[in-house]
Amino acid sequence: MRIDLHTHSRASDGTQTPTELVGAAVAAGLDVLALTDHDTTDGWAEAAEAAERQGLELVRGMELSTRHQDHGVHLLAYLPDPTYPPLVEELDRVLAGRRGRVPTMIARLRELGIGIDEEDVRRAAAGTAATGRPHVADALVARGVVADRTEAFDRFLGWGRPAHVDRYAAPLVDVIRHVAAAGGVTVVAHPWGRSSRRRPDEQDLAQLQEIGLAGIEVDHQDHDEPTRAELRAIARNLGLVVTGSSDHHGAGKLDHELGVNTTAPEEYHRLLDLAAAASAASGRRTPEVVRP
Ligand code: AMP
Ligand code: ZN
Ligand code: FE
Ligand code: FE
Repeated sequence: MRIDLHTHSRASDGTQTPTELVGAAVAAGLDVLALTDHDTTDGWAEAAEAAERQGLELVRGMELSTRHQDHGVHLLAYLPDPTYPPLVEELDRVLAGRRGRVPTMIARLRELGIGIDEEDVRRAAAGTAATGRPHVADALVARGVVADRTEAFDRFLGWGRPAHVDRYAAPLVDVIRHVAAAGGVTVVAHPWGRSSRRRPDEQDLAQLQEIGLAGIEVDHQDHDEPTRAELRAIARNLGLVVTGSSDHHGAGKLDHELGVNTTAPEEYHRLLDLAAAASAASGRRTPEVVRP
């Protein structure tokens, strides 16, 4: 069984529609796919329909923009009730923060003599509620300023680059609790990845587990072999679920092809068992896994 639990569609900053993503997952020989767009569930309905039609097992999820001890943490959330009010309120704040920083990024770029405007970004971000730096990058590509997203991040948008602008992110501890109360489970995405300027250690992860964290994403392209081995050991010590995933963004991110990393079936089933327990305890109406 080939299981990929972290992917993006055009509902955030992937380049494929949910239907195209599901088709690509089937073509790549995957048996289980999780759709985890940034800070939105807008892709869920289309993905579920496509998965049912194309015979793919689909887990509805999200990748939430959170902050912990002043550092950004990406938190994967699986199968929460998307209508749980505290979760909706946090998502609204995050999405407002995403929209709010666009004019600042454009102003910074204009100071550098790059003439893009809000309309360029709106066009690049058509179809998503979660406007992000990748859409600004796409606008720069469309204007011929850079060749691809990578160049846009390297020159302008990445951390420490001149058009980098911070935005609101939800407190990690609150979000872990909200997702649990919404009947879902959480997994820290790429905990020691490129964008993690402070790496949570075993003690940090143990504290997060105490408040409800279910697992960590160990096999991710941002992690080299020694990093994976170290994270796997921590997960084993703590009893955290270990996942592996592509973080596929369609054509938007090189070297993140579907299935490039996968999750072991027994780890996937542990995660589903924890989700079932959280759902039962929450009393919320949680989404089912789509099963062909
Ligand atoms: P944002 O959420 O708007 O801050 O943008 C973060 C997103 O940008 C993440 O989903 C990354 O996948 C993406 N990203 C970061 N660096 C790069 C890069 N070098 N090339 C393409 N996408 C990137
Ligand atoms: Zn992304
Ligand atoms: Fe991420
Ligand atoms: Fe991601």
